Amino acid sequence: MSQRPEIRQILEAYRPIWALDHATALFSWDRETYMPADSAKSRGSAQGLLASMRQQRVVALTEIVSKAEKLEGLNDFDRGVVRNLKRELKYFTKVPPELVEELQRVRTEATVVWREAKKKSDFSLFQPHLEKIVELKRKEAEKLGYEGHPYNALMDLYEEGLTTLDVDRIFPLLVSNLKRILHHIMSSKSFPTNHVLENVPYDEESMRRVNQEVLRLLDMPEKTFRMDVSSHPFSINLSMDDARITTTYEGRNFKETIFSVIHECGHALYTLQIDPSMDYTPLAGAPSAGLDESQSRFLENFLGRSSPFTNLLYPVLKKNLPFISEYSEDDIYRYFNLVRPSPTREADEVTYNFHIFLRYELEKKLLSGEVEVSDLPTIWDDMMDEYVGVRPKNMAEGVLQDVHWSWGHFGYFPTYTLGNVIAATVFNRMKRALDFQDVIRRGDMGPIKMWLKENIHKWGATYSPKELQTKALGDVYNPEYLVRYLEEKYQT
Ligand code: MG
Repeated sequence: MSQRPEIRQILEAYRPIWALDHATALFSWDRETYMPADSAKSRGSAQGLLASMRQQRVVALTEIVSKAEKLEGLNDFDRGVVRNLKRELKYFTKVPPELVEELQRVRTEATVVWREAKKKSDFSLFQPHLEKIVELKRKEAEKLGYEGHPYNALMDLYEEGLTTLDVDRIFPLLVSNLKRILHHIMSSKSFPTNHVLENVPYDEESMRRVNQEVLRLLDMPEKTFRMDVSSHPFSINLSMDDARITTTYEGRNFKETIFSVIHECGHALYTLQIDPSMDYTPLAGAPSAGLDESQSRFLENFLGRSSPFTNLLYPVLKKNLPFISEYSEDDIYRYFNLVRPSPTREADEVTYNFHIFLRYELEKKLLSGEVEVSDLPTIWDDMMDEYVGVRPKNMAEGVLQDVHWSWGHFGYFPTYTLGNVIAATVFNRMKRALDFQDVIRRGDMGPIKMWLKENIHKWGATYSPKELQTKALGDVYNPEYLVRYLEEKYQT
């Protein structure tokens, strides 16, 4: 908590903003879980109104925030409060409301059209909408201002201070090494590309019991956390004592639901382990999408797909899913970790980053005008062929596969790979402090959660993503740890 009256004044004025965020999060959670199907209209109106009330309250902070910024001797907490609010204010003051509204309108329309275009596998339906979105995102970048590439302005919205120089250092090293590792896996056949368990149907009730056991293995708190069902898995944080996740039950390929649960628990844990002094403040969240994703990836891949965790899970699976008795623990481990070059982003630990690289390159070039929207389908397929070694069967599987562009989320994709890169760095640092394999084997997640809390979670958004990485990990967006981890896992 701050001792400075100026910061206390800001935090006092921030409380209603926090309450609006809390309400908005609950509305969103309800919309995706329990809201009746035809109630979207009133929910949309209510959320729209809350958003404009929120904006007014944030803009009203302009003066006290700029005064506080000039104060000397602020501590890290105080500076964090000012930094986060300044970022919000920057958006509201630089991007004119007409542009925000137009983006909102075009997006709402584009999402509907995109769904139709994907169903028909026809890019020409979506093309004019995407052209408009690219044009508006260019304008948005111009208004926000940037140094270097216009894409920097958009990436900064999700990952403070991230530039194309940073990302252009990550991908070449990552992609060349991943190509080599993939080649090794494919030629040595050390990990399968498919598994019969992908097609074995499961009973939903039994699977729900398995997932409850997964929560127990991860030692998720019972009184500040809950899990429900939605059409796509997500996590949402209402406040530091209320983290919620969802999963989905497709009826087959049981690992899908398990790993979505573990992934979303990583996001939930972040919020639940922030220092209590940050409650009701702008610091009560992750500092960036990449850091947030690093925690879900860490839990999902580094912990969840590890052999000691498979060892913990195996008896649970055997007890609840009758068909498991036909498979050994090693079989299940390989099923969890199969590697398959595929045209879709729902890929494995090795090929996933190729998919992100492709999207990053395309977004950057769309924004600078090096690539036209009309050229996308061909370039997409050619790049997929070059990096992953597969050609999409059709446009639904190719250029139309992701919803993100219809939402206007340009600059978001790179944070998925940043999540993997940071998670691998976390893994490397954590292993210096504790015997990772042994801790999991004993079924005691305490030391792992404590490490994450002490080094990353407790700081909330006090520091920018680069500062936090420097402080907690001593390395910023360094892809070498991810390469090393994948080599050790898949080449030995
Ligand atoms: Mg995630």
